Amino acid sequence: VIFAHDTIAGLTAGVDLVNSEQPGRDDLLDAAGLDGFLDKHAFTGRRARTDGELEAVRALRAEVRAVWGAPGPAEVATLVNRLLVEADARPWLTDHDGWAWHLHFTATNAPIHHRVGAEVAMALADLVRMGELDRLQICAADECRAVLVDFSRNRSRRFCDTGNCGNRQHVAAYRARRRQALAVQSFGDRS
Ligand SMILES: [Zn+2]
Ligand SMILES: [Zn+2]
Repeated sequence: VIFAHDTIAGLTAGVDLVNSEQPGRDDLLDAAGLDGFLDKHAFTGRRARTDGELEAVRALRAEVRAVWGAPGPAEVATLVNRLLVEADARPWLTDHDGWAWHLHFTATNAPIHHRVGAEVAMALADLVRMGELDRLQICAADECRAVLVDFSRNRSRRFCDTGNCGNRQHVAAYRARRRQALAVQSFGDRS
């Protein structure tokens, strides 16, 4: 399976949007936090820089996260369709700034939460069309509920990239093996 560049970009933005809210941490608390997210994912267009704008983007998080919890394609389709309506998605072709012709899903002056919602929803729609919804995963680390998209060929990705879940899990596994080895060893000593 080859994922289009736009699909990967939209899904990556969706993952970061959802994961911007973690237990004890919120990366979208103010305009600067929102700037960081929008810049990282190269969202262009109009910014109102109001509390309402920030609230609207924050509200998207639960809607996008719900897709990871949906039991199947029909439920995902319902959620994605709702996101597209809410975002007032109207695809149009553009070759702005020297880029090859590509689709934008909202008008240039559309509110930023519409732009974000539409991009993420269209990328999720691609996954539905491709029958690849099992790429949507929750981090396997204990006590982490971050979401991820596994783009790997052999579907081997298990941990999010919000912190060092992969490392933490490796250390825990190493310690468990080490404890086991020591227990076996001390048993051997007694015998
Ligand atoms: Zn563009
Ligand atoms: Zn994690």
